[in-house]
Amino acid sequence: SKPSYKWRRVLLKVSGEALAGDRTQNIDPKITMAIAREVASVTRLGVEVAIVVGGGNIFRGSSWAGCSGLDRSSADYIGMLATVMNAIFLQATMESIGIPTRVQTAFRMSEVAEPYIRRRAVRHLEKGRVVIFAAGTGNPFFTTDTAAALRTAEINAEVVLKATNVDGVFDDDPRSNPNARLLDTLSYQDVISKELSVMDLTAITLCQENNIPVVVFNINKPGNISKAIMGERVGTLIGW
Ligand code: UDP
Repeated sequence: SKPSYKWRRVLLKVSGEALAGDRTQNIDPKITMAIAREVASVTRLGVEVAIVVGGGNIFRGSSWAGCSGLDRSSADYIGMLATVMNAIFLQATMESIGIPTRVQTAFRMSEVAEPYIRRRAVRHLEKGRVVIFAAGTGNPFFTTDTAAALRTAEINAEVVLKATNVDGVFDDDPRSNPNARLLDTLSYQDVISKELSVMDLTAITLCQENNIPVVVFNINKPGNISKAIMGERVGTLIGW
């Protein structure tokens, strides 16, 4: 029988901010557990899930560059290391509820995680394991959103599901304008020309060039992660 889900293989992007929830701590274990539970429910149905984690809850290179002689590249390496911390935390949570999970880092940290090997990542996914990609692209001056777009293209995932703390993309800033409308769909060109802060330009351009749709949705609403993975309409869909 035909499976009811729309996506076969997805890439879930979880920003550091989303992992922090509304807590003052860097990571809210309630959020990692919610992610684990919802991912578990869809992997059981056969959807393959890869995850790219951000690091902004711990360290953002661009905001530290220049401090006490810290150059941008060094700051960005610290930022990439921060994503590894989040990845290991998330892996532990997932495995605590029985989801086989592998972390692959963009630069070698062999005692801690596997190095990123594309074909191996795909094999893990085919075997029903969740793969968490850490350390971004492995290069300074990039973001984990770009890593998400890049890995999506590399592993032939069908969509980037970008988990955030907002409901999706609005036509204005909902914090300052109470009448701001949530947009159902958007073209890549809209995102670029209206300078909507969905993803940085490098990331959105990579998605556009490779026809990778992006769904922006709120991770704090229970059920949203599994809905997004199952291809149900949530948040804002960017494509075309
Ligand atoms: N970073 C980087 N190269 C990458 C990905 C990330 O240098 O390919 C660094 C950069 O300093 C960034 C930090 O890692 O500020 C954390 O990543 P990001 O800001 O994308 O995390 P998020 O906003 O998703 O929490």
